[in-house]
Amino acid sequence: MQLPNLTIREASDLLATKKISSVELTHATLQRAHEIDPKIKSYVTITDDLAIEQAKKADERIAKGENVTPLTGIPFAAKDCISTRNIRTTCSSKILEDYVPQYNATVINKLADAGAVLMGKTNMDEFGMGSSCENSAFFNTHNPWDLERVPGGSSGGSAAAMSASLCSFSLGEDTGGSVRMPAGFCNVTGIKPTYGRVSRYGLISLVSSFDCIGPMSRDVYDCATVLETIAGHDPQDSTTFNSPVPRYTQHVTKSVKGMTIGIPKEYFVSGMEAGVESSIQEAIRTYEKLGMKIQEVSLPNTKYALPVYYLLLFAEASSNLARFDGTRFGLSVSENAKDVIDIYLQTRHKGFGDEVKRRIMLGAYALSAGYYDAYYLKAQKVRTLLRRDFETALASCDILLAPTCPTTAFKLGEKTSDPLEMYLSDIYVVATNPAGVPALALPAGFSNNMPVGMQLIGKHLDEQTLFQVGHAYQQETDWHKQLPNI
Ligand code: GLN
Repeated sequence: MQLPNLTIREASDLLATKKISSVELTHATLQRAHEIDPKIKSYVTITDDLAIEQAKKADERIAKGENVTPLTGIPFAAKDCISTRNIRTTCSSKILEDYVPQYNATVINKLADAGAVLMGKTNMDEFGMGSSCENSAFFNTHNPWDLERVPGGSSGGSAAAMSASLCSFSLGEDTGGSVRMPAGFCNVTGIKPTYGRVSRYGLISLVSSFDCIGPMSRDVYDCATVLETIAGHDPQDSTTFNSPVPRYTQHVTKSVKGMTIGIPKEYFVSGMEAGVESSIQEAIRTYEKLGMKIQEVSLPNTKYALPVYYLLLFAEASSNLARFDGTRFGLSVSENAKDVIDIYLQTRHKGFGDEVKRRIMLGAYALSAGYYDAYYLKAQKVRTLLRRDFETALASCDILLAPTCPTTAFKLGEKTSDPLEMYLSDIYVVATNPAGVPALALPAGFSNNMPVGMQLIGKHLDEQTLFQVGHAYQQETDWHKQLPNI
C-alpha cells in the first residue's frame, strides 16, 4: 500500500480503524516529498517538524476518540498566499521572501481544529498573477505528467503537489481560475466556491472582490469533505455568508437523473485543442447515459469577460499591493534613501517582479482621474452583465458544463514572452469570479497524454449540486484515479 496515494476517505478509514497512524502517513508523505519534489518543485517551504508534531497530536486524538473528524491526521499543503503563524508566507515574491505572519488565516485555524496536518507551503505565480506558475520569483514548478510542461497557475504548486501525491489534499486560491486551471492541467479535482462561502481572513489579497480559497484533492468526495470543514461565516470577514454550511458529503450520492446540464455555446468555438473538445463531448455523453438532459445555453457577454476581468484585477490589485512599501511587511530597501518616498520606490523596484509591476501600472492608470469612468466604472457595469448572463442561463438548467482551458498544459517558456497570449489561456475560467458563482474542476480524459480538465458551474451557494453531478461522473469514469508516473 502506497500511503501518499490514498484518498482522504481511504486514509481516514485506516486511521479510524488504527491500521495506520497519522505519524506513519505524514512521515511517508514527507519522505516522498523530499524524494520527488526536487524534480517538481511544488513546495516553497516544507515544515517537517511541525507536521510530525501535529501528526502525533492527531494520533492522540484518535486514540482517545475525542474530536475525531474526517481530516484528523491527514497531511495537506497550502498555497503560499495563505497566512500561517510562524511559518514564512511569501506569495512567491521577493518582497515577502522573509515575511513570517503572526497569525493564521481562518482556513488554517479551521483545519488545525479538525486535526489536519500542515506539511508546507506551495509555489505560485507571484501574488497569484499568472496562469503557469512561471511568475514565481523563486523557481518554476513542473507538471508531474511531463516535467517540460507547466502545472498551470497560479496555484500550480498546490496542483502539482496533489497530483504527485506529495500531500493528501491542498489549498489553492482562485481569483480568476487559479484553482481550476492548474487542477485541469495536473489531473486533480478542485473547487472555486461561491464568493463569500469561505473566509478570506488571512489570505493575502489579490482582488478582494474576486478571491476565493478552494481545496484540491484526488476526487469529488474528498473535495466536499474539505470544503465542509473550511466553509462558513467568519466574524473576521464581513463578506462571508451567514447561512449554514450543508453537509455536502452526505448528499453526493444522490441521483442526477432528470437534471439538466447547460452547454454554453460561446465556450465551444474554434481554437480549442481537438483532444480537449472530444473529451468534453465524451463527458456530455456520459451524463446523457446517466439520464441527464443536455441543453444549449448562451452567455452572450462572454467576449467581454477577459477584458473586464483583467481591468478590474489591475485596478484592485494596484490598490491592494500599495501596502507593500518597505515600512510594514517584508523587504525594506533603505540604504542611501533620501526620504521615505525613496524607500517606497527602491523597495517596490527591487521587490516586485515584471508581471506585478505591469499590472500595478495598468491598474493605477485605469483608476486615475479622467480615466476612472471610462475604464473602471465601465468594467464594473459590464461585470453586472456577466453576472446576469449566469443567472439567466442557470434559470433554465441545474449546472453548466465547459472545459477549464482550450488546451492541455503548454511547455515551460512557451507563453512567457507574450503576456496577452498567457491571459488568453484563462478564457473559460475568469467570468465566474466577477459573477461570484461556484465552479468545480475535475479530470475528464487525456489529449496527447496530458490531462484534460472540465468544469461544472453552478448557482450561487449551490456547491451541493456541483458535488453531486461531479461525483456521479467519477462513479462512471476513472480519469481521476490516473496518477502520473513519477
Ligand atoms: N490567470 C489569472 C491571472 O493571472 C489567475 C489569477 C488567480 O486566480 N489568482 O490573473
